[in-house]
Amino acid sequence: MTPISIAIVGFGKIARDQHVPALHANTAFTLDAVASRNASLESVAHFRDIQTLLDERPDIQAVSLCAPPQVRYRQARAALAEGKHVMLEKPPGATLSEVEDLRAQAERAGVTLFATWHSRYAAGVAQAREWLSARRVTSVNVQWKEDVRRWHPGQEWIWEAGGLGVFDPGINALSIITAILPEPFFLTQGELEVPSNRQGPIAATLAFRDAYDADIRAELDWRQAGPQTWDIHIETDAGPLSLTQGGSRLTIGDEVLLEGGDAEYPGLYARFAELIGKGESDVDVAPLRHVADAFLLGKRVEVEAFRE
Ligand code: NAP
Repeated sequence: MTPISIAIVGFGKIARDQHVPALHANTAFTLDAVASRNASLESVAHFRDIQTLLDERPDIQAVSLCAPPQVRYRQARAALAEGKHVMLEKPPGATLSEVEDLRAQAERAGVTLFATWHSRYAAGVAQAREWLSARRVTSVNVQWKEDVRRWHPGQEWIWEAGGLGVFDPGINALSIITAILPEPFFLTQGELEVPSNRQGPIAATLAFRDAYDADIRAELDWRQAGPQTWDIHIETDAGPLSLTQGGSRLTIGDEVLLEGGDAEYPGLYARFAELIGKGESDVDVAPLRHVADAFLLGKRVEVEAFRE
């Protein structure tokens, strides 16, 4: 099959670290262009912005949007209007409404829209979902704690409205639990700790319930120095399950069933190729909806100013 000609738009940390190697390893795609104001990739055509790319390279069939979420909609709309298949980094947009509009635009244009959640492709997630599908969950404890200075140096957009603050990594945990828990759940209480000089929260404590009253809690924190924690512990009527190390390590009872490597971005591009081949879209806004609920219902507490 002829490979799909693809361009990356917004060439920052995640494009460089994950998208480029995943695309180079996937024969379904050829990475033919990069559109980014300040960055480029050796031996690949460079354009300053998406509109110039679309105007000058009508042969490009798909775009992968890796700029911050505040500009996702405008870039996706431009690409869909030109009949391109579109892959959205997480979160798929700055608001739920704009993602719904993109979904409708993709359907009208007859192209693929893929709202990605990379953590759902971590090695242990599929097996965890399968095991949990036959169990009754009684409690969930999410601990998603990392050092913002280490992972997001100089990223001002992440603190601004639409950047999500600590929910930028926290939404990854929500993307996993929305994929693996057998019942839908909803927020009942939340507290967002917002530095006095920022728009976005630096920490959040969330409590959810499902229809069977499972006690689902999440602690997200960006102030964790030392070892980093991306863990989910689940109690069920058949014993405990833990997905740790961002979902790559699966433990059921006392047994470590899986300790996987880096499966996330290869998994995303395999899925994108599959969706394009089938003429389908995959747009699940559940993780973003929980974040929106946290901003709707969560109590805001001002905490000390954050300086890098
Ligand atoms: P980043 O390093 O700040 O890179 C994003 C790039 O987008 C920038 O380098 C910039 O490139 C471009 N950009 C920034 N503002 C723009 C604007 N207003 N208009 C057009 N382009 C703009 O961010 P990142 O860490 O790669 O994150 C990008 C997205 O990937 C986010 O949604 C994030 O949640 C997601 N993500 C990040 C990670 C991670 O570990 N960093 C992991 C998974 C997912 P130019 O200046 O060259 O235009």
